[in-house]
This record gives sequence, structure tokens and C-alpha cells, in this order.
Amino acid sequence: MHEIKVVLTMDCEPTTATSHPAATGPTNWSGGEDAVLGYLEIAARYGLPVTFFVHPEAAAAQAVMFRDLERNGACLGLHMHPWKYALWRHRGKKYLAHYGGLTSAEQHELLAEASAIWADAIGHRPAYFRPGTFSANDSIFAVLESQGFRGGSCTALGRVIPEMQAIWVGGQPDPHRGHPAFRQARGNLNFANMPLSADFSRVLNGPANRNMYADFRPDVDWPGQYQVSYRTIATNIIKQVRERAPTVPVLSTITHNHYAYRDADDPVTLRCRTMLDEMMAACQAAGMNAKGATLREVADDVLAHPAAEDPFVCEGAIFDLAGERAELRHA
Ligand SMILES: [Zn+2]
Repeated sequence: MHEIKVVLTMDCEPTTATSHPAATGPTNWSGGEDAVLGYLEIAARYGLPVTFFVHPEAAAAQAVMFRDLERNGACLGLHMHPWKYALWRHRGKKYLAHYGGLTSAEQHELLAEASAIWADAIGHRPAYFRPGTFSANDSIFAVLESQGFRGGSCTALGRVIPEMQAIWVGGQPDPHRGHPAFRQARGNLNFANMPLSADFSRVLNGPANRNMYADFRPDVDWPGQYQVSYRTIATNIIKQVRERAPTVPVLSTITHNHYAYRDADDPVTLRCRTMLDEMMAACQAAGMNAKGATLREVADDVLAHPAAEDPFVCEGAIFDLAGERAELRHA
């Protein structure tokens, strides 16, 4: 394993004027545009492309910018906080929930509806997806595949926010095909999920007493609030990926479109630069070639490999499913 894909993502939220004053998101569209273009400029200095998950309101309001970015190599996907969409489109009378709080039928209906709005703005239907808050239930991957999506970044291993239906205990840390029945399992769907990278070496005590792991995001002041440097985060994540030796090794990170990425002295901008410097240095120290990629290329890579499903295990016995009849391989 000598090459590792580096995937930078940004969730592009609607303005707080269209959702809720306390929600995440820029206060106005020009602030959102500055964040998007500023982040893109920083990424470009490291030779890295960006994957943008765009909420339908942002796709509609900033269609010209996002179309232009896509023409220039950015990967665009759909971002969805159902409750924000509900307030914009349905006066809160429908889909007033987190994504994981929707039934399979509701997810189908919402994705069909929102994808049509997104397609009107961007010029084609979205093929990539991220649910807001990484909120999801077991229906997510089957629904996404049947709605024509081929990839997403839908999981943050270790996240436990039950009240927002975001629970990712015991899941997959590396890119894999989604499972139709169980969200934490590797499956055989033609849908590639790219988990958010995180440093699993230490559980941190986060806001509201929630346990969490450090990740690459510049949004959080890891050194100041949790006494964890970006050097430690980068070194540990790369070491852990190498130990797992996945089929598709990836370093993926997230940020949001309400930070002042065009202000070189803004604390988040400074952390972003530090994070990228440390990520690149840690890759080099580990003898890894860091290769910029979008989610599209990660999905290409995952889907080029046959499904690697977890074996069926029962009471300590493992069954070999390769032959005509399942044989007990190891008890
Ligand atoms: Zn979001």
C-alpha cells in the first residue's frame, strides 16, 4: 500500500435565513460563496480537488457557481437535512426529521423530490450523497442505490447522537459497498460509501458529554479544546489505515460553508492549512503517496472491486459460502 487518496469535502448548507437562525449555514449566500471559493483555493495550493455536498436550496441559489466548479473538476453531491428542506419547501409539514428518522418510503419520496430540484439547478441528477449530521438508519444504502446514487459519504464511525438518529458504533472505517439490510455491514450494493476518517486511538469527551473521535476537520479546534494536535491526528489516522490495509485507502475530511476561508488570518483557515500541512507530512513520513481525489474516484475504485461481504458467522462458527451449499469452515 503506497498510495492513499485524499478527499476533501464540504457540506454546503442553506443560509440560516432559509432554515433556522440556530442552524449551521452561512448567514447569506455571498458568505457561502466566499467559503466555497476560499476552501477551493486552499485545496488547490495542495493540488487537491474538492467534493461538495450541496443542499437543494444552495444548488438552486448558487447554481452558476456550482456548475462552474463541476466543469473545473469538483465533484458535486446532494446534501440533505430533511428538516431544513421541510422548512423551505413544505412549511415544516412534511419531512420535519433527521434523515435517520425517515422510513424507507419517506427516504425514497424525499430523494426523488429533492433530486429533481437539484437537477433543475445543476443540470443532472445527483449521483453522490451525504445525510446531514451523518443521520441514517438501515434503509439508507438500498434507497440510495435504487434512486440512482452510486456513492456517498454517509458514515462517521464512533458517532453516537441518538436524538438525531446518528449512531455509528461498530461500523466500517474504510470505503466499501453498502449493505441493503444493515447500515454498519459491508454489502453487495452498487453503492460505494466513504466513511469520514477519524483517529480511533482515543475517545474524546465532546459537547453534551458525547463520546467522539478526533478527525481532520478544521471546524473544530482540536488542539485548543481537546489538546490533540493535527500532527497527532494525521499520524494516527495514517498508521491505522496502514494497519487495516483496506482495498481502497482514503483520508477523508469534512468542513462547512460558513467559515471565512477567504480570510487568511481566520482561525479556521489557519487550522485548515495546518491540517493539510500535517496530513501531507505524515503521508510522506509513512512513505505514502498522497493523491488528491474526489468521491467520484473513490466510488469508481470501490465499485471496480467485487463485493467483499462479511462472512456469515453463527455462535462462533464461520460458513464458507463459495460452493453450491454453505459449508461449515471453522467452528
Ligand atoms: Zn449539513
